[in-house]
Amino acid sequence: MKPTKFIFLTITMVGLLGVVIWLSSYLTVANADIAPVSAYALPSKALFDEEHLKASYSSYPGIDIMTIITDKPTHQMSIHYPEFHEEKLNQVIDDYVTSTKAEFFEGIEHNKQLTEDMQATLYLLFEIHPIKENIYSIVFSHESYIGGANGRQSSKIFIVDLNENQFISQTDILKDSQQNREKIYHILTERFEQSEQYQDFFFEDQLKDWIDNEELTFSNVYLTEQDLIFKFDKYMVTAGAAGSPEILLPLDEIGELLTDEWLKKLNIEVKEPVPERDDESEVKEDDERVEEIKKETNKKTVALTFDDGPHPTHTIEILRLLDQYKAKATFFVLGNRVDFYPEIVQNMSDQGHEVGNHTWSHKDLTTLGQKEIAREIEAASQAIEKVIGKTPTYFRPPYGAINDQVRSATNLIPLLWTVDPKDWESRDTDKIYNHVKRHVRDGSIILMHDIYGSTVEAVELILDFLVKENYQIVTVSELNS
Ligand code: ZN
Repeated sequence: MKPTKFIFLTITMVGLLGVVIWLSSYLTVANADIAPVSAYALPSKALFDEEHLKASYSSYPGIDIMTIITDKPTHQMSIHYPEFHEEKLNQVIDDYVTSTKAEFFEGIEHNKQLTEDMQATLYLLFEIHPIKENIYSIVFSHESYIGGANGRQSSKIFIVDLNENQFISQTDILKDSQQNREKIYHILTERFEQSEQYQDFFFEDQLKDWIDNEELTFSNVYLTEQDLIFKFDKYMVTAGAAGSPEILLPLDEIGELLTDEWLKKLNIEVKEPVPERDDESEVKEDDERVEEIKKETNKKTVALTFDDGPHPTHTIEILRLLDQYKAKATFFVLGNRVDFYPEIVQNMSDQGHEVGNHTWSHKDLTTLGQKEIAREIEAASQAIEKVIGKTPTYFRPPYGAINDQVRSATNLIPLLWTVDPKDWESRDTDKIYNHVKRHVRDGSIILMHDIYGSTVEAVELILDFLVKENYQIVTVSELNS
């Protein structure tokens, strides 16, 4: 059993007052699986106006994103996978996720002596690429580390057609003839040899073995709107230093490789322009609000913070409650979920809440290299900026794990918390509420997660309590200004 981790975080405010605020905070490594509510439902109380209601909650109609985050003494997992509105499709994805988890747990079991000193990690992430209306490539990447040097990296591709509610196999897209295989082999060889990134690591004989394999189904091939992409696992046709290489072939150059059916499908390609948005005059309102808060200096202040969202129903409920109690909060969102639910993030911002950065995919940043840390944070900032027109000021490191390398990888201000009701662990409304009630004081930063129904219920009780106790419920920036 690992001891409780204590993390002391120094936050230097280089803002208006140049105040140095010390926050000491802790993260308990405890036993709990965090799973989202899997039912997809529209919010019971309408928060969005008519115009918003017409739109889909997810940017990818018919697909939601599910997130499982676990932090146990033996292992840490951050799993993200798509959920469709069709059970037979979900079953296929669930089988893949379940077998990936099972393999990971077997690995832990087999390497007990290694995992005693070190937390094993499993990250299962996916990218989603629209091909045509309701047809998507879903590209999973799986990374796991089970102590020592046992790092694993692989990928898995699903191409889904939601018009027909079925998965498409790559051999429906690519003509699978001997002649076509020859062509693919030559094109790929040429691309690898011309690629500055891969040419030094490329093994032509391994590519030959790959194309000559009778069981080859091109399961490592996917489509985007523009390209046909061959994705190879690490070590498959290159040395490890090349990572998992991808060769992109523009669709308009490789028509001869495609089946007639897909040639026809892909020729009808209509791109819709992205509407421009116009956000101004927000700054003034923010300043006015800070003034208002300052006038009421006799009031105690508290910041409610919500991590791991946005969630298509629970976040909306919390926004409605905050509105009802005239409270402002800070949402530390995951970039890959913002990508799915931009409208919810837009609503947070429109209602005067603060949007913070909780990284792209919830990896433990202290286990990553400098470049990868920067990428995890930067990708989330970009996703947020794309929606609300400004980059976040604060970031919250996943699992509260932070060190100097993480601090120096970003200009964002790291922020932990002072009150942790462990809503993810208990999922018990009364426990969450009672913990906050007992521990809250002037200046508290309260940590909760807007992906659980039990938290939503607790938030209502907490808001009621805080308002009665004469608290100003403010954003993190307002608390620190
Ligand atoms: Zn988190």
